Amino acid sequence: MKIWQDSEDPYKAKREWMVETQIRARGIQHPRVLEAMRVIPRHRFVPPEFQDEAYEDYPLPIGHGQTISQPYMVAAMTEALEPEAHHRVLEIGTGSGYQTAVLAYLVREVYTIEYVPELAERAQRVLADLGFTNIHFRVGDGTLGWPEAAPFDRILVAAAAPEVPPPLWEQLKPGGILVIPLGDLWGQELYKIRKTPEGERVDEVLFPCAFVPLRGAYGFRG
Ligand code: SAH
Repeated sequence: MKIWQDSEDPYKAKREWMVETQIRARGIQHPRVLEAMRVIPRHRFVPPEFQDEAYEDYPLPIGHGQTISQPYMVAAMTEALEPEAHHRVLEIGTGSGYQTAVLAYLVREVYTIEYVPELAERAQRVLADLGFTNIHFRVGDGTLGWPEAAPFDRILVAAAAPEVPPPLWEQLKPGGILVIPLGDLWGQELYKIRKTPEGERVDEVLFPCAFVPLRGAYGFRG
């Protein structure tokens, strides 16, 4: 895969600092995840007025009431996914496209679905600009999954859900992993859910978190 090399990148040192103080210091060890976050220019995924804050330890607004997740959250979710180079991954909630980029750096193919057309378009433009060619985009309700491209090795949901949307569970391969924040509108816990080779569900609760709500058929209504 082509990886842009911008030796003039003014944010390179900030990225190093972000990875050391926010990511590695909190226990993320996966070498390829750390590498992805060292390489991918997060400032390209935030609105211009927030560029200087792109490497800070918090989420930022990206318009339409949505946010780009805190860097640590992206790292923790990605590590929990146990990504491997040959994987095909489904992501729900493209948002800024930053998490998409981290995944696309690590795996063979990413299928990403976003509800808000303007966000999807913007993310698609940034990711194409950076040279990614292994990302498939869809605008619509991600709780329905992407049946034509299923099954997936991994599924990542980047918005808060009341329960695992049944279509996503169906579209996860046996032996696969689903990472999703489950709870109510005010707070959730990050779940790492395995589908055993026999098709059984095994939940692991990682830590408390607060995501914007998942909308659509199996999200929060209203
Ligand atoms: N990983 C993204 C997080 C974006 S926030 C980032 O770091 O930028 C979650 C996103 O999920 C929002 O953009 C929101 O519009 C989107 N979303 C909410 N419900 C959705 C649904 N049912 N299908 C697809 N996307 C959805």
